[in-house]
Amino acid sequence: MSKLKLSKSQYLKGIQCPLRLWYYTHCKDLIPPIDPATQAIFDQGHEAGLIAQKLYPGGVSVTTDFTKIPEAKLETDKAISDGAKAIYEATAINELGIYSRIDILVRSKKNKNTWDLVEVKSSTEVKDYHIDDCAVQRYVFESAGYKIDKSLLCLVDRDYIRKGDIDPDKLLIYADITEEVQQKMIGLEDKALDLIKIKNKKKDPHCSIGDHCTAPFECEFKEHCWKHIPDFSIYNVMTKSKKRAALVEQGIIEIKDIPREKVSVSKLIDIESFLSNKPFFNKKKIKDWLGQLSYPLYFLDYETINPAIPLYDLMSPYKQYPFQFSVHIQKKKGAKVTHLEFLNTEQRDFREDFIKSLIEGCGDEGSIIIYNMSFEKQVNNRLAEDFPKYRKELEKINERMVDLLIPFRSRYIYSPDQNGSAGLKSTFPAFVGDLYNKLEIKDGATAQKQYMEFLQDKIDPADQSKIFEDLLDYCELDTFAMVKLLEVLYQHQK
Ligand code: SF4
Repeated sequence: MSKLKLSKSQYLKGIQCPLRLWYYTHCKDLIPPIDPATQAIFDQGHEAGLIAQKLYPGGVSVTTDFTKIPEAKLETDKAISDGAKAIYEATAINELGIYSRIDILVRSKKNKNTWDLVEVKSSTEVKDYHIDDCAVQRYVFESAGYKIDKSLLCLVDRDYIRKGDIDPDKLLIYADITEEVQQKMIGLEDKALDLIKIKNKKKDPHCSIGDHCTAPFECEFKEHCWKHIPDFSIYNVMTKSKKRAALVEQGIIEIKDIPREKVSVSKLIDIESFLSNKPFFNKKKIKDWLGQLSYPLYFLDYETINPAIPLYDLMSPYKQYPFQFSVHIQKKKGAKVTHLEFLNTEQRDFREDFIKSLIEGCGDEGSIIIYNMSFEKQVNNRLAEDFPKYRKELEKINERMVDLLIPFRSRYIYSPDQNGSAGLKSTFPAFVGDLYNKLEIKDGATAQKQYMEFLQDKIDPADQSKIFEDLLDYCELDTFAMVKLLEVLYQHQK
């Protein structure tokens, strides 16, 4: 058996950036822990993979783990000689030592010595990097002696509506990408051989930073490669990559060197504020914006989950379902705020309880202040579709919404500490102080992950109440932050 030289995932890292492959081989200590959002994507992919196996009942699983590739290949060979019709996690190694696993290797219906490759993704559409992924697989299996007919992607159908148990035939859809894959295979072996050489070099290949550091995937070495880039730089104020690349080419990275005529008006505010280290206020615009508010004020925020595999009846893949809200209420200007909250703490469909508590918590009149209200509006519209008996009340809540993001995103107000971002996690620390740092749960992705684990019964019952407390603290701080930011706006109106 050939010595192992390059895996599919190493090839994919290498075509994104050769330095990424080299660091991955030689500097594993630079790899940070996986963040909650990435872990959630891995978990969903794994879950979709297990459901897809049900489409091929009676298939044989290669159980040897991914660190023992030669053993997994032998297990695959045995399953084939035993006459398996489908093999899950089948593994092949070609004579150059390039190797790959495939989610499902299926004996073709046309000819029993020919196979289809089925790769399962929790995505809802074909992406360019899926073609690269499937091209390496097909190349490895073909060059290892397999006759391959189709390359199929098995994707999640976003229109699927769960009714009872998950129906794999309806949840998953196929995309036949055979032609695209065959196109991508042209020159693939040469690229793979180049990457093997790069991987084995003692010295790292020089690669500049750029858009490829975040696409198609965020590179795990970004913190390392980008450490010379200031927190606020050309990358924050110039989003158009061609224009920016031309300036970076000339060595322009720092804010002070950026030609002013190259940036938008709102970015000019960011730049001037940064250079003078002074906040910016458009007092007239702030006053006009504040003029639309009507008391009592309700500062509202949701936490949601959006699993690829719907958890309960009448749920669909990737739709946002709210399990928690926090609302701070202020009856009059300057009055003390009171607080209400909702968090579902049972492993069952929570939507109707959420709606009822929300309608009760939001009262009948007054502005409902949200940070980036398009998200909450969309969530309410979906709830109204799923539970039409509450449509009127949910629509009324949407009509009362006012977006607190606007004054910050439109630069009626700006602090140099925002580093160009108008997100709540930037504006609140910039104007009030960073209270998020004191919390156990500091961001929405972690809240989502912890809550999904609770619903999937992956959290020890003894630890659940602590998680609920952390979730409540996190959501409460989001609405408290809005209360404080509104106070800041009042202080700076004309
Ligand atoms: S951060 Fe960018 S330059 Fe550095 S290894 Fe990753 S992709 Fe390459």
